[in-house]
Amino acid sequence: MRVHANDGLSAQAKASLTEQDFKVTTDHVPQDHLADFINKERIDVLLVRSATKVRRELIDACPGIKLIGRGGVGLDNIDVVYAKQKGIPVVNTPASSSISVAELVIAHLFGLMRSLHKANRRMPGEGRTHFKELKKEYEKGFELRGKTLGVIGFGRIGQWVAKYALGCGMNVVYTDNHATAEAIEVTIGPHTVRVPVKMVTMDELLAQSDAISLHVPSQKDGKAVLGTSELKKVKAGVVIVNTARGGSIDEDALLMAIKEGRVRGAALDVFTNEPEPRADLLNEPNLSLSPHIGAATAEAQGRVGDELVDRIVAWRSSAVVS
Ligand code: NAD
Repeated sequence: MRVHANDGLSAQAKASLTEQDFKVTTDHVPQDHLADFINKERIDVLLVRSATKVRRELIDACPGIKLIGRGGVGLDNIDVVYAKQKGIPVVNTPASSSISVAELVIAHLFGLMRSLHKANRRMPGEGRTHFKELKKEYEKGFELRGKTLGVIGFGRIGQWVAKYALGCGMNVVYTDNHATAEAIEVTIGPHTVRVPVKMVTMDELLAQSDAISLHVPSQKDGKAVLGTSELKKVKAGVVIVNTARGGSIDEDALLMAIKEGRVRGAALDVFTNEPEPRADLLNEPNLSLSPHIGAATAEAQGRVGDELVDRIVAWRSSAVVS
């Protein structure tokens, strides 16, 4: 059986599938050549991450595909309903990357509090000639300890962010459409403690938070969760991190809020126009930027690969049985 992982696969997962008699290819094929490749190579299982799109046209063009696997959480790059109508199951690995995304959020938060993103941009050019001026400019940093983090979307990743934030001494409030956790478990060495967390309304979260982190899926109505009206209600000087989806925060509204000084800085890992984010975002010094690498750690890739292997092997067994 042929498996093609178009956005990469961990070496361990590849070896594990190969051991179990799958023939695996992992070289990336550009989107416009993918259908030809799949048909020519008689691919049975197509694995993608977020880059490759598996739209209706690709599904129609490749009648040999029997299973689609997405390494990661969101399925917005796959026409899942259409695939299922055609009898093609779609599997993903929702929990495997939560810790990695949460750690990136905390990294951005520390950076934003100490203006590391700004200092990093300027040190190469001015560090030798204007060291004292740069020191003066960036010496007015803040600590995370004692600040309030507002988490929007308290699912898998949101809760992991809360655990790390609590570990840093932050207070955590959250808002969510469905989740209603009263406490979360934080493990420190051999000890696990239950720490209360407070669910608040969106307006309360906006008013109380010194830092806000977004962890919602793409919304059915396509609207930003943080748009112009929400950004008008934030506590002055807030910092915001978006590792959810490009559309989760309105990019125009964010730039305006930064310009008007309501938002002191923000971190973006995801962009509306991926993979070609707007130039004005990239050139905004108050933004800490990363190229959609939330889930991209060795550990998460390993877990994604292992989980996909389990899913593929279980699917093959059920296909053989039925
Ligand atoms: P999840 O389904 O576990 O949690 C999402 C939560 O958001 C749910 O509890 C849901 O009730 C809540 N929610 C939905 N709409 C809401 C709204 N309008 N207001 C408040 N709450 C709302 O998902 P997750 O695994 O935590 O993933 C969250 C997001 O992170 C997804 O968008 C996913 O695509 C993104 N993600 C990004 C990366 C990256 O590389 N940057 C990696 C993995 C996941």
